[in-house]
Amino acid sequence: RVFVVASFVEALCWFVPRLPIAGESLAASRLEVGLGGKGLNVAVGLHRLGVEVDALIGCGRDEAGERLLRVLSAEGLHTRHVHRFEATSSGRGAGFIAPEGQSAIAVHPGANLLLTPAHVERAAEDLERAQLVYGQFEASVEVLTAAFRRAHARGIPTVLNPSPWQEPPAALRETTHTLVVNEVEASRLLGTAPSSLEALRPSLPALWASWPECQRLVVTAGERGCLAFERDGDALQAPALPVSAVDTVGAGDAFSAGLCAALAEGAPLREALELGNACGAHVAARIGVLEALPRGRPHISSRTR
Ligand code: ADP
Repeated sequence: RVFVVASFVEALCWFVPRLPIAGESLAASRLEVGLGGKGLNVAVGLHRLGVEVDALIGCGRDEAGERLLRVLSAEGLHTRHVHRFEATSSGRGAGFIAPEGQSAIAVHPGANLLLTPAHVERAAEDLERAQLVYGQFEASVEVLTAAFRRAHARGIPTVLNPSPWQEPPAALRETTHTLVVNEVEASRLLGTAPSSLEALRPSLPALWASWPECQRLVVTAGERGCLAFERDGDALQAPALPVSAVDTVGAGDAFSAGLCAALAEGAPLREALELGNACGAHVAARIGVLEALPRGRPHISSRTR
């Protein structure tokens, strides 16, 4: 069972011939509305892998909120910890997508930021039944901190994906057990670009020092797969599955779902990386995010070194 400090964003994507410049109006050839948000993606991903999930989510009393509830119930996820707010709309994102895949995106977090530590308290019973607590930075730092503190105090492992990047406060650094980052976040976290396992190694002592409870760092590296370091010195590298990628948006969330599903079951890190890679590749090979997340465990063909 995994408790996800989730987020919900309804994304509207305008497909345009090229990105508009300041002051310009362009005709879009297509408009797509999709439900997502990093936390929702991971919650649905975990649930489809057969893991019981409690998702703490804030949304508006609007149509996007209705659509969220319909998706959760169609997926079979419970909504005990979905809170609806009058004061603002659900999280909404607007993206311009150009033919070569370039994009320009703005996200309004809306109701995601109306959750407070009191909502974590109300979910405490479920949180304390979890084998793992997962969080990301589309949720508010106060809410994440409340959830991670409670988990840490009960000895429940926590996994943090510090994305979209912001400087993590001490209270999170002191309660995070596993960090999962992509290459951009890794370079922010470590002050170095992860070209190889060896290139990362010199920055690790400083990381362990400022994240005193962190036992492992997992770095996803797109088509190169992922790397992981354990505090005791072990390092692992898991190559990506060879797929023809058509849309890598959401690959990181799918990876997190696979990683956490395996870790929550007590599987060794090597297996967790392989399931993460398999889920990430599955999404990269398909259009969309929620609709692309695997149903059931995807085939694992890569082997860790
Ligand atoms: P993010 O989406 O957060 O930027 P990555 O691009 O690192 O994250 O992708 C996350 C994971 O998804 C990778 O570690 C890998 O397992 C898988 N993945 C991403 N892109 C590809 C690809 N082109 N081919 C195979 N697997 C991929």
